[in-house]
Amino acid sequence: MTRPLFWIGIRESEIMDCNHLFTGSITIFGTGENGNRSFDHSTGYRFDYNHEHEQWIAFVKVQLQDIYRKYPDAQFMLYYPDEYNAYGNGLSQRLICQNEDDLINLLEDKHRTRKWLSSCVPVCPYIISLGKEINYDTLCEKFPYYTEFVAQEAYSCGGSGTYFVASPKDFEKNILRENAYSFSPYIENSVSPNIHIIIYDDEVLLLPPSVQLFSSGDERFHYHGADYVMFTHLPENIVHSVYRYARLIGERLRYAGYRGVCGIDFLCESTEVYFMEINARFQSSSFLINRAFHNASVACSVQELHRDAFLHRTCSYHPLDLSVKYSFWGYSYDPRLHRQLQYTHALHVSCDDEDAICIDDNLDWNMHLEKGTYLYKSIFHGNIAALSPDFTCRIHSNIEVEKQLETSLPWNHADAVQWKIMLLNHGVCISENAAKEAEKQGELNYEEFTALDLHVNGEMYVNVPYMANRSQISPFEIDITPKGNYILCYQGEFLANIALRYRDKLSDKTTKGGIPFDAIGYLGNDRLRIFHRLGCFFKDTHCGCKFCDVESTDEILCFEDIKEVLDAYQDNEDVRHYLVGGGSNTLSSNFGNILRIVKYMKTLSNKSIYLMSLPPYDIQLLTRLKRDGVTEVAFNLEIFDRGLAQKYMPGKGKISLEIYKNAFEKSVSLWGNTGNVRTIFVVGLEPKESLLKGIAYVSKLGVSPILSLFKPIADTPLAHLLAPSDKEIYEIYINALRICNENNVELGPACHYCEDNTLKVSLLINDN
Ligand code: SF4
Repeated sequence: MTRPLFWIGIRESEIMDCNHLFTGSITIFGTGENGNRSFDHSTGYRFDYNHEHEQWIAFVKVQLQDIYRKYPDAQFMLYYPDEYNAYGNGLSQRLICQNEDDLINLLEDKHRTRKWLSSCVPVCPYIISLGKEINYDTLCEKFPYYTEFVAQEAYSCGGSGTYFVASPKDFEKNILRENAYSFSPYIENSVSPNIHIIIYDDEVLLLPPSVQLFSSGDERFHYHGADYVMFTHLPENIVHSVYRYARLIGERLRYAGYRGVCGIDFLCESTEVYFMEINARFQSSSFLINRAFHNASVACSVQELHRDAFLHRTCSYHPLDLSVKYSFWGYSYDPRLHRQLQYTHALHVSCDDEDAICIDDNLDWNMHLEKGTYLYKSIFHGNIAALSPDFTCRIHSNIEVEKQLETSLPWNHADAVQWKIMLLNHGVCISENAAKEAEKQGELNYEEFTALDLHVNGEMYVNVPYMANRSQISPFEIDITPKGNYILCYQGEFLANIALRYRDKLSDKTTKGGIPFDAIGYLGNDRLRIFHRLGCFFKDTHCGCKFCDVESTDEILCFEDIKEVLDAYQDNEDVRHYLVGGGSNTLSSNFGNILRIVKYMKTLSNKSIYLMSLPPYDIQLLTRLKRDGVTEVAFNLEIFDRGLAQKYMPGKGKISLEIYKNAFEKSVSLWGNTGNVRTIFVVGLEPKESLLKGIAYVSKLGVSPILSLFKPIADTPLAHLLAPSDKEIYEIYINALRICNENNVELGPACHYCEDNTLKVSLLINDN
């Protein structure tokens, strides 16, 4: 008969997908039910487990005595195997899966482990020194080219014991004279993978790695979560090295006699992978591997693999082909953000579905919460982090909880810019009451761009992502007042009055040729966009842009169908101007279909006509376009760095800068430099420096740049990438404005109403 097994860990949720193994558990956080004995449940107190806590040790001892009495043959498995000594003498004979103390002690000492493994795998350059024997200036001398450093104590974990040193003042503040630290250069453009390995007598098993997620801002070493999906999108050279080095380290550990689970942390630059440390224990992200086993209906868990490593020579679960499609973020307590954290917790709990699950180990907000203590964690299907073009880890904008910006109505321009950036970046959700009212009034207009059209404070138009890109957990919510007015709230508090735009009824019609109107035209805030073709040449030739969801099609759009749509909208007062756009024609196109549409538009009215297309190879075509009625043009570069342009736009990215330049110069000579010649840049797909270079390049030619924030679109090859942070976007916006001013051009677009999905705010008060 198997003996009763108990888990001693941090959270009860660590064993949620393998609790069949355990008769019960002792944890810091938990329900206190079904065999769980939790410290927080018993004491009404959640403390920061990164610091030692005597009350917790005492709690465990009491629980152990009770378990020994009730289950004389009880056995125990520990999350932190090295802590068994603290829990009293009786425990050591009842432990399963324990490695030798000497080996654990070696691995717990980060300094010794680095030295030990430096002959087997690359280790980030470091020196070990007592605080009193070194200073900031010496560090700068020892590591030329660096001015920022990381100091790590020998025994450190989860960010505590690790310090950022960027000045003599930081050094004085954090570094104790008598303590030993390892000092390394701070490599900003890097990410930190972690891999679980399981060591058996005869083999080493590698489990899927993840990327570790840390706070942005001052608490940059504070561990918050892991992203298994992001790891799968890292460059091949990095993925390969992580597996190779993990195996080498695993073999070294196996020869040394280590058995069972451990986690290895690496630091990766774009071309190098360095070993950082080994954690001789389960990992904070182990529960996600268990979740993947569970959802793949494989009767296995990290705990079982760990147990088996002490019983068998090899792993009995081959073949172990596991894909972990999850990421998670853990929230810890900060009294300054109490209200925001509570709001986010409620929001995540309410969104509980296949895409996101909130686990809080029975959090009660009335408990005494120590600063830094664990509150809850949200598990996401798919990634919440992505590699930035600068090789840093970008966290999705809706993950970290932030303090609300100080703002009051009426907004000044700077307020409006900040809020617009945030709306575009975070998206919006809608309260049940507001959704019901909207349904009564008409259909919300969001399907074309998975975004809602909001008119905010009667001042600015914003096309805000909705039902896409994790907008369900956005801090922005549309609500409705008892008087039936829509309002926009941020973290549950009123922000602005808004109006919503409903779906254009005409778009439901079909042409005589059987083409839906909405495949030909789209009515925006004040502009009718007409597609000059269906699909796109690049998609048809399998080299479409990787961020675009336009589909390839054999269907041909007849001019008669286009005419029918234009006629139908002829008297529509909402149409103040036209846009001719859509997918690209062939590179050698003579723009025949476009010229025909433009000419017809001219017969209907004198409204201005904006053409968005590829730059024509034959620039004389531009003269014809002008003569036939085009009043504005845009040839969108999208990405200035031509290497990245080809990577993300294998077809369109091959068009040389020279071709664009010729078209821009000719266009400026025809339509002037007052905003009628434009180009769109996607913000987020290239480093800030190359984007700003591109903005300078076009504005010097008299072309108005338009900044369009990257939006990951589901089922496209770049669906896993993320837009930059609000702060980075704001910096780009401010720099773009400056560059435009220096070159005497306006940031595009010229039309106030068409700014809705761009990074531009021109406030129009009372613009009815
Ligand atoms: S050119 Fe690129 S972005 Fe434009 S429709 Fe074609 S594939 Fe999409």
